[in-house]
Amino acid sequence: MATPRVGIIGAGQLGRMMALAGYPLGIDCLFLDSAPDAPGGQIAPIRCAAFDDAEALGALAGAVDVLTYDIENVPIGILDRLAEDVPVFPQPQVLAVARDRLAEKRLFSELGIPTAAFVPVGDERDLDRAAESLGWPIVLKRRRMGYDGRGQRVAKDSGRLARAWRELDEAPAIAEQWMNFDRELSLIGVSGADGALMFYPLSENVHRDGILISTVAPYEDEVLQRTAERWLSELMRRYDYRGVLTVEFFHTDAGLIANEFAPRVHNSGHWTIEGAETSQFENHLRAILGWPLGATAPRGHAAMFNMLGKLADPARVLAIAGAHFHGYGKRPRPARKLGHCTMVDADRDRLLARLAPLRALIAKTNY
Ligand code: ATP
Ligand code: MG
Repeated sequence: MATPRVGIIGAGQLGRMMALAGYPLGIDCLFLDSAPDAPGGQIAPIRCAAFDDAEALGALAGAVDVLTYDIENVPIGILDRLAEDVPVFPQPQVLAVARDRLAEKRLFSELGIPTAAFVPVGDERDLDRAAESLGWPIVLKRRRMGYDGRGQRVAKDSGRLARAWRELDEAPAIAEQWMNFDRELSLIGVSGADGALMFYPLSENVHRDGILISTVAPYEDEVLQRTAERWLSELMRRYDYRGVLTVEFFHTDAGLIANEFAPRVHNSGHWTIEGAETSQFENHLRAILGWPLGATAPRGHAAMFNMLGKLADPARVLAIAGAHFHGYGKRPRPARKLGHCTMVDADRDRLLARLAPLRALIAKTNY
């Protein structure tokens, strides 16, 4: 059999971990990224080009069996054209929805998936309409290009909402009702060839300033798990989806409220590398290549901490029994995701107790 070749647009840490998962399976990955020193480049070759360089993307497509992406800002028109010659998974139509918060919200509503009340914002007058219908506080989010809490502001009154709108360059946005949640959860599903669907257990996620700090999984609640699985199934069936899909939820008194979805592997699934029978990265590759999916069952309980702004010293992390270290080969910058650490234990309480030194070390290093 010829070596399977996967083209990955974007060579960030997600692409890097995908290529790492592909290595033992004998999969050749090939990246396209604008940065020659992007994290994926230590694992597989990078073709250096802009994400809107149709010619370079076409050449990448010509060199691989299937195309996927670890970023969301590839022009959809180009992806659509490439998809005529080579499979692109997840499908460009679903990426087009996921990266526009308004389209994303409308899709949730259409599928009957509860989501925070919202008002589209295109000009200043919409801000008053939003205030009237949503109450305070309001979260103003740009429709496009938001990640890690960037491109959004929380406003407590009209003055601050108007200022937030100016700070976001008056770009098309949505105003969203503030959710009082007990916790944040996410569900990762994977859809393979022939509509095979599998789900990881719910993950419980803690964010600070819009950035994921830590995940503990599984979050065991059968009813929530079943509900979330039903919603992801509907989303995936709608698009004849192939690959990994993540939905982030707020868990409130009223149950699960969908926040957003990502048509890709997700930071809240990094624990699956050591904590599940098959990692989200391997399952994404299996799905897009049309291979059988791997078991998503957890291997006990897992916790993951992001290393932000500064990497902890690997030797100090690894001195903690059971700690796993992942560095992404990125240059430090405040609040930038540079790596993560994971710990797994058969027993949840014992895991939480064993975590203490790792938690303290990461908390001290992060900034
Ligand atoms: P990501 O890196 O996950 O793509 P993002 O920048 O796209 O993040 P969101 O996921 O929409 O942004 O928001 C980031 C975090 O901000 C959420 O995980 C949550 O903690 C908080 N947040 C967002 N919207 C709301 C809301 N309506 N009410 C309360 N908290 C919110
Ligand atoms: Mg999010």
